[in-house]
Amino acid sequence: MTSRIRLAVFIVIGVAVIVLGSPWRTSWYRITPGPVARACESNLGALALALKKYQDDHGGACPVALPALVPQYLQQIPTCPSAQRDTYSPGYATDAGAYTVLCRGHNHGEAGLPADRPAYASRTGFLRGP
Ligand SMILES: [Zn+2]
Repeated sequence: MTSRIRLAVFIVIGVAVIVLGSPWRTSWYRITPGPVARACESNLGALALALKKYQDDHGGACPVALPALVPQYLQQIPTCPSAQRDTYSPGYATDAGAYTVLCRGHNHGEAGLPADRPAYASRTGFLRGP
């Protein structure tokens, strides 16, 4: 081994030991919501995109209910990976050309989220807090 490779290996192992052994490791993992809540947010993102396309085709009007998006804008209404059912249709509401769609119920306590979160509001974007 050349001295350069030995130095590189030493640095990589040193950084790994410092990062993996550090006391803030657990809090570093906690910054992002869990994979289930992220998958639910991904569903909300897909719904938001479909709602945007619907609004573009209908002069800015929102659909009365989410099933109006199927099949032209969305193959099917997604199911929350935690609740294992469509929590978005009961969590959909419109107001003067704006809409909010949320995961209805307390389905993401594991990620530290309150009831009816995550949510997506057309005026403000994603909501995780109360
Ligand atoms: Zn959900």
